[in-house]
Amino acid sequence: MTEALQKNAAKLGIDVFSGFLAIEILKTKNAVCGLLCIEKKSGELVSFKCSDIIMATGGPAGIYADRVYPECHTGTTSLALLAGAKAQNLTEWQYCLASVAPRWNVSGTYMQVLPRFVSVDENGTEYEFLSEYFDNLYEALSMVFLKGYQWPFDSKKVLEGSSVIDLLVYRECVLRKRRVFLDFTKNPFNMDKIEYEKLSAEAYDYLKKAQALFGTPIERLIKMNEPAVELYRSKGLDITKDYLEIALCAQHNNGGIAVDMWWQTCVKGLFAAGECAGTHGVTRPGGSALNAGQVGSLRAAQYISQNGNTLISDDTFEDILSKAEKAHKEQLEKISKAYDNIDELISKAQRRMSDNAAAIRNKANMEKALKETLTDIADLSKTAGVSDKSKLYTYYKLKDILITGSAVLAALIDYADTVGDTRGSSLYFDKIGKLRQGLEEIFRFTEENGATRSKVQETYLSEGDFKCIWRNVRPIPSAEDFFENVWRSYRENRNIY
Ligand SMILES: Cc1cc2nc3c(=O)[nH]c(=O)nc-3n(C[C@H](O)[C@H](O)[C@H](O)COP(=O)(O)OP(=O)(O)OC[C@H]3O[C@@H](n4cnc5c(N)ncnc54)[C@H](O)[C@@H]3O)c2cc1C
Repeated sequence: MTEALQKNAAKLGIDVFSGFLAIEILKTKNAVCGLLCIEKKSGELVSFKCSDIIMATGGPAGIYADRVYPECHTGTTSLALLAGAKAQNLTEWQYCLASVAPRWNVSGTYMQVLPRFVSVDENGTEYEFLSEYFDNLYEALSMVFLKGYQWPFDSKKVLEGSSVIDLLVYRECVLRKRRVFLDFTKNPFNMDKIEYEKLSAEAYDYLKKAQALFGTPIERLIKMNEPAVELYRSKGLDITKDYLEIALCAQHNNGGIAVDMWWQTCVKGLFAAGECAGTHGVTRPGGSALNAGQVGSLRAAQYISQNGNTLISDDTFEDILSKAEKAHKEQLEKISKAYDNIDELISKAQRRMSDNAAAIRNKANMEKALKETLTDIADLSKTAGVSDKSKLYTYYKLKDILITGSAVLAALIDYADTVGDTRGSSLYFDKIGKLRQGLEEIFRFTEENGATRSKVQETYLSEGDFKCIWRNVRPIPSAEDFFENVWRSYRENRNIY
């Protein structure tokens, strides 16, 4: 899809500037007037004077350690927030079981062939941890099978359903500090032969129809979906022999930067399209992310073509630019040191978010994480060090991860304070909530009663802090449908208003 779009842009003669990281949206009053970037290779600041910007920087994946996004896709949501845009539904994400090296979703047949789930502690001792939880091992296998298409983590499927598998993986990785792997080479629980008829009817019927009531998980996978084995081989891992490391990973941000029906933010001339825009909500139908990206960018382009923001004069722009450049140069001078520690600081920030602010959310832990994040932001110029100009841009990645992380934490804490019910792809700890029998207290939660579905949480920067408010859901706009009026309006403004 992106290759086709790129070819089309080349055909239309659109200039593409590659190798730059956008670091600040330049504004005059509450409107866009340009963009400041850092050239990655040289570490030089480069500016663009422009009247409109469409941000398409992806979900803020970089805030998490456990994520299934491609490595370089970290997002830059803080850029819009620092420019005065609001975010909405920042609490709503999708988390799923995914392999971590290489990164890939382990949905579908990877689960339906019933692999062994193995955790390994720091001494190298292995545990088939599902058997600790399930008295009936065939129930465990039936849940693993269901995970194939009951995906991603869904709080509605915790009490009765396959999302308990995600919780058990989380418990191994985060609470017990073990690594978790899928092993396709042997059947689970030392079963020489699986008695398939003891599986749930759904799992048994499916595997029977797929002619896969035999052998080991890898033999079943080769029978049902050989390309799934090839896929990992093409990425350097042979799952016919090797363990596949997995975790409960961030997969999609359903919230993001708040936009109107033309995908414009509350900053004039600043648009957000694709995953960085908060256009989904608590749940998201599969496949809708790519469509939403195309719709949003088209709507933004249509609006700009009719009602674009005005370009400011060169003199005013120079004035704004020189102030911004001076501030960035001062920051870069402070962090230019004899040592490099950005990667380390990024890993620390990401681990904190995955452990405290991902699928499992405990208010006390999130408050502690926010406090630590704010301290890291305040100390950034003292602690961060970059020794090489070509790595200066990574400082901005770290800064974004911390600032966006603090916005997400503020939203999560506000949600825990004001609502607290579990919904979507996350679970809010509640001392008096329901407990899936056999799991520790951390997994207690109260199911959503639906009362908040008519409200949207917005997060914005005010006097240096992220604050949250709740607004009513906006009604779906109703279009004029009398032909003469639609035709006249089309001639006047292409129905873009
Ligand atoms: C494993 C996986 C499977 C998925 N499967 C599906 C699916 O089947 N169907 C579906 O609809 N969706 C799917 N999604 C979701 C979908 O792929 C994403 O939502 C979508 O690709 C986001 O596209 P985007 O263009 O908004 O952002 P991205 O594709 O993330 O692109 C953002 C770009 O912006 C660049 N960037 C970021 N910050 C800056 C900056 N400051 N300066 C310059 N450049 C910057 C990044 O380097 C990147 O190139 C999947 C996601 C994952 C992770």
